[in-house]
Amino acid sequence: KKARLEEVRQFLPQWLEESRKEAASGEVASYIPELSKASHTALGIHLLDIQGDSASAGDCGMAFTLQSISKVFTLILALMDNGEEAVFERVGMEPTGDNFNSMLKLELVRPGIPFNPLINAGAITISSMIKGSSPEEKSARILDFFRRLSGGSLLEVNEAVYRSEFETGNLNRSIAYFLVENGVLNGSVEEVLSIYFRHCSIEATCRDLARMALILAGDGTDPLSGENLIPRRYVQIAKTFMITCGMYNASGEFAIKAGLPAKSGVSGGILTFVPGALGIGLVGPALNAKGNSSAGVHLIERLSQRMDWSLF
Ligand code: GLN
Repeated sequence: KKARLEEVRQFLPQWLEESRKEAASGEVASYIPELSKASHTALGIHLLDIQGDSASAGDCGMAFTLQSISKVFTLILALMDNGEEAVFERVGMEPTGDNFNSMLKLELVRPGIPFNPLINAGAITISSMIKGSSPEEKSARILDFFRRLSGGSLLEVNEAVYRSEFETGNLNRSIAYFLVENGVLNGSVEEVLSIYFRHCSIEATCRDLARMALILAGDGTDPLSGENLIPRRYVQIAKTFMITCGMYNASGEFAIKAGLPAKSGVSGGILTFVPGALGIGLVGPALNAKGNSSAGVHLIERLSQRMDWSLF
């Protein structure tokens, strides 16, 4: 697959404005109170190819928190810290078909083990597997890893979002206690949640997301510096989860319509990429019924179809 950004540039501004209209049917997430302040109609996109050529449109300078997008990269760090075997003793490999924060299926796969690392139960378990001698050190290692993947961008935790989530995260607390009860998590729930909420609250722009996606597009090697940052096997694992579970319980539909590995978050971000060709970062805070950016899904599906980017 080829990026062909010179072609994308010709229609991107107009297509972005057309997709922006889709935001009207969506809702900005409000269960984390701080997120409800985001602009309903914002939409931005940045595309970055393996030669370093880029294209962008709309509100691409807007900063937003990674939320569930961060789960892809904490999974990768946990794999690098512990190896594949240890990670899959604690989380499964199957999509759930339920919402990201559902507790419904926690009892079903090998009792108590979360279905996959991209739902909250799995991602909280993954947060507990990051190496470090204290929660602060674990959070610092995650932030440092994300900064390296974004090409040295000085990413920071948005403390207001972090506090808002920490104070209102009763459902995530329930999930964590359930995991302790089942012996999946050990140690302090509040400490694990502080690590989890912190990585969800790391703030980035569409350009940072596109840069991180570019490393995945390069199978773990940064196409711009030639540096290997992630073992290829772990990118393969992450990429597979992004296809099967990255867009929550809309992953099947997105695989049919766009055919790209992707991960969305409740702040309206989407990270996606065309393997071997380019990384894409997008933000559009108004979410559809499945919790994905309404305008964002519309724009990426249209782009992928027009450019013939689907992997399938
Ligand atoms: N931090 C959010 C939560 O735990 C992440 C969820 C998401 O982006 N889907 O609810």
